[in-house]
Amino acid sequence: MPNCEKCGKYINVYEVHKREIYSGKTNKVYWGKRVSFGNNFRYSIKTVCKDCADSIDKGNKFGFYLFLFVIAFIVVLFILGSK
Ligand SMILES: [Zn+2]
Repeated sequence: MPNCEKCGKYINVYEVHKREIYSGKTNKVYWGKRVSFGNNFRYSIKTVCKDCADSIDKGNKFGFYLFLFVIAFIVVLFILGSK
């Protein structure tokens, strides 16, 4: 039976979630389920429980909204600057 790789909680088989988790920056070649080279940010697929999967999804959504906000901000600056 798997355990959550984020919080260590025991996971029921029907509650297993797979998420890409940021696992640090690496300068090495990392041979895992996915291979990354050089200075790439390293993400790896981990088995997590539902709670952690939810929190990861929320975090991703927040990042997406933050991205939209930054883009909107740049557009506003651009419009203001062009006058
Ligand atoms: Zn968890």
